Amino acid sequence: MATRHSHRISGRMDLLDASGIRKVFDLAAKMSDPINLSIGQPDFDVPDNVKQAAIDAIEAGQNRYTQTQGTQELRASLASHCRDEFGWDDPDHPYLVTSGVSGGLHLALQTLIHPGDEVVFADPYFVMYSHLVNLASGIPILVDTYPDFRMTAERIEPHIHADTRMIILNTPANPTGAVSTEQELRDIADLAKKHDLLILSDEIYDTFTYDRDKSPFVSIANFYENTLLLRGFSKSHAMTGWRVGWATGPKPILEKMTMLQQYTFVCAPSMAQVAAVEALKTDMTPSVDAYQRKRDMVVDALGDSFGLVKPDGAFYAFVPAPGGDATEFVTRAIENNVLIIPGNVFSTKNTHFRLSYATAEDKLQQGLDILQALACA
Ligand code: PMP
Repeated sequence: MATRHSHRISGRMDLLDASGIRKVFDLAAKMSDPINLSIGQPDFDVPDNVKQAAIDAIEAGQNRYTQTQGTQELRASLASHCRDEFGWDDPDHPYLVTSGVSGGLHLALQTLIHPGDEVVFADPYFVMYSHLVNLASGIPILVDTYPDFRMTAERIEPHIHADTRMIILNTPANPTGAVSTEQELRDIADLAKKHDLLILSDEIYDTFTYDRDKSPFVSIANFYENTLLLRGFSKSHAMTGWRVGWATGPKPILEKMTMLQQYTFVCAPSMAQVAAVEALKTDMTPSVDAYQRKRDMVVDALGDSFGLVKPDGAFYAFVPAPGGDATEFVTRAIENNVLIIPGNVFSTKNTHFRLSYATAEDKLQQGLDILQALACA
């Protein structure tokens, strides 16, 4: 069948390659009850009040298309959230509710990338970036951030050329858990200003930062006007299946992204938008504190012995593979019932593995014990 239809499939699809992650999931499918440290979503459920808001919305008949840019209520809540965080008080400041941050990324790249434009982002990176840049006929330009995973102006500058259009930042980062400091972001903002570049800041993990007293989470939107900010509810409120994210930034860009949404996603799910208003009122500190404990367990177990750089956010650790070959170590881990992901799924290198600690503490501890034993074997 595949051969009979292959001539029908557009060449654009050749730009997508999911082979790395597929191999891991094929192996995982053969495991019975694995200790799964590969998951990219919280292990807690949507808070009850947020679930109830979605149920009430469905029962009240809020099941129709919403405005393309999102409901008035949710956009007003986002505006008030940003007034508190950034001090923005322009009543015309635009907000677009997207179909998850993935939807926002797709709209942004389709709206902003001319063929051949270079888009700069960190290596290791969230896999979707390279695929979506390629689909938009852009060219991904990777900034090597090994071994400490700091995305700095100094590292970025040599990669800026005449065709550079945009820098994608991701803080806290998937897969490394790195959180940018205010100084790093101020330096990147100066560099972007010098070269008139847009910053696309993917802050989907903004809720998950630890040791906030010592290293608070900062958004580059505080001090760089040409920032397209993307955030969402998938991770913060465990609403991955409900598909709600949001975008804000320069008005002409938001207008074009809204127009494209009209002809693609149409709108984010109506009942999930109602629930998102409730989510914004819900304090997630207890869940984040629980993740800080899990992060500490990972650092205690793998910090010295594996040479792990302490992650300050998200729920991932990007760990050097003992022996230096991630595929070899991940295969041994899987043979011992622990599922982790080799670094080459997120990177041009294959020297590390991604461990997600979004799982129950007892499972996490079992997994860490097995990984430690494997490193000594
Ligand atoms: N950005 C990053 C860095 C992510 O890790 C993810 C999800 N894994 C997304 C965006 C997309 O999230 P969603 O579409 O569920 O909002």
